[in-house]
Amino acid sequence: MVLNQEDFELKIEITERCNATCTFCHQDFGNMKSLKQLDMGQVKFWIDWAARGNISSVRFTGGEPTLHPHLLDMCKKTHDAGLYVTINTNGYTKFVRYERMIVYRIVLDYGAVVQL
Ligand code: SF4
Repeated sequence: MVLNQEDFELKIEITERCNATCTFCHQDFGNMKSLKQLDMGQVKFWIDWAARGNISSVRFTGGEPTLHPHLLDMCKKTHDAGLYVTINTNGYTKFVRYERMIVYRIVLDYGAVVQL
């Protein structure tokens, strides 16, 4: 299935934590100390909300979403709800975390890559 223009995406900022230090960051860049993150119940609520509406895709962002301890469960829940999963990432997290994800696409933050 191909995404059409009429499809909508829900973007969920699941954590403020990040392991990069991009100077252009709109967040508090390089914020590894932040403990602010959504829990699984909060994310499930919004996935269910999206699945009931005219939304075909959920995008997980941060901060760096791969630092969230429940990202894999969030991806599975989204997939099981019949929605596409997109991850915005800077690509610095260990590869094993990416290969176990059920995702439609991973968007690599090129700006973050060239910052290091
Ligand atoms: S990877 Fe993203 S969230 Fe992290 S510091 Fe860079 S722009 Fe900010």
